Amino acid sequence: MITYLLKPGELTLKGGNRENFEGILKRNLMKMLRVYQARVEIRSGRFFVYCPEEDSAGVEEALGRLMGISGWARTRQCEKTGAAVLAAVAEEGKKLREAGLRTFKIEARRTDKSFPLDSYGIRCAGGNAVLEAVPGLTVDVKNPQGIINVEIREKAYIYGNTRRGLQGLPLGTAGRGLLLLSGGIDSPVAGFMMASRGMGIDAVYFHAWPYTSEEARQKVIRLAEIVGRYTLGIRLHTVGFTGVQKRIKERAPLPWTTVLLRMAMMECAEKIALAAKAKCLITGESLSQVASQTIENLICTQSRIKLPVLRPLIGTDKDSIIRKAEAIGTYTTSILPYEDCCVLFSPPHPVLRGSAEEAGKLYESLEAGPLIQEALAAAAVEKCGFPE
Ligand code: ATP
Ligand code: MG
Repeated sequence: MITYLLKPGELTLKGGNRENFEGILKRNLMKMLRVYQARVEIRSGRFFVYCPEEDSAGVEEALGRLMGISGWARTRQCEKTGAAVLAAVAEEGKKLREAGLRTFKIEARRTDKSFPLDSYGIRCAGGNAVLEAVPGLTVDVKNPQGIINVEIREKAYIYGNTRRGLQGLPLGTAGRGLLLLSGGIDSPVAGFMMASRGMGIDAVYFHAWPYTSEEARQKVIRLAEIVGRYTLGIRLHTVGFTGVQKRIKERAPLPWTTVLLRMAMMECAEKIALAAKAKCLITGESLSQVASQTIENLICTQSRIKLPVLRPLIGTDKDSIIRKAEAIGTYTTSILPYEDCCVLFSPPHPVLRGSAEEAGKLYESLEAGPLIQEALAAAAVEKCGFPE
């Protein structure tokens, strides 16, 4: 049996809410691990996962997708005797050396005060045990290449090689938001970022079939699947927006078309969000990245709705967004070359600083309400990304 020790992230900061947060994290963890023969236990603020060796690769991969843990490690468990602990520490030292490390230090924590060595004593004796057993390793307390951790609790836990978790807060501790998910680079990252603050995610994609292809839709489904692997799935609404786009093309001045389309998307998304009990909309907009994302145009875009629009990437530059997209695994899908739903019009000289008043007038002249209702009535919903 393998044991993993998990350190919850900001959970420790949450005072009275802590048990609630722990319960949610445990539930998420069990859902993520349900295809494995794994068992989860919480003991005094630490999470333990037990699984057979053959499931360990899958379990480790899943731990890498769990929001709300700051780190985790495969740990040895042993009896709380000095000899057993020092032997286990020496074994961990061997593993560090095998991995090519040359310097280490010991960190020790003792919640069971009846253990004969205090944490300083454990550090000294553990360090000596490693130095004796593992040639080639030396102590460096300031800047070690590896750390061997010793925790004396109900049992003794000894582990090196702590892996960094996704950080953030457990999914489901911050309500639900509706992500406007296009096939681009930004919006999947935006959804991931809100999820990492604990927000559950639904998504909506507007397509303009037959002007946009089935491949473009499949690409968005794929993106929802990838993000959904971190968010215990995503319910994806697909809304056909060809009628709305055609109306915009017929009635609106060309420079305004993109902003008006965004306004219509927001109106439609708000209706879906309210029905799905989502508390906000989420977009991948980033200030001044394109003409429709100047501060004036962002104000126009949200001017017809009441729900707040969260834009986690608003102050993030494109390079950082791309790096984040690579890290979460959406980038290679996002850059597949399928047209997005704006193919019906891309004005050569879009309005750059639209006034909200003018936007409102133009929007009303579209009389888009019934078209939006029609689109909603024909919308499709599917669950992406979970179960696997
Ligand atoms: P992205 O990479 O997310 O597509 P972008 O830089 O291409 O962003 P825009 O195309 O201007 O920006 O879109 C701005 C935001 O509007 C997107 O991040 C997304 O949240 C939303 N959006 C755009 N097109 C669609 C669509 N077809 N369906 C759903 N949401 C969309
Ligand atoms: Mg886009």
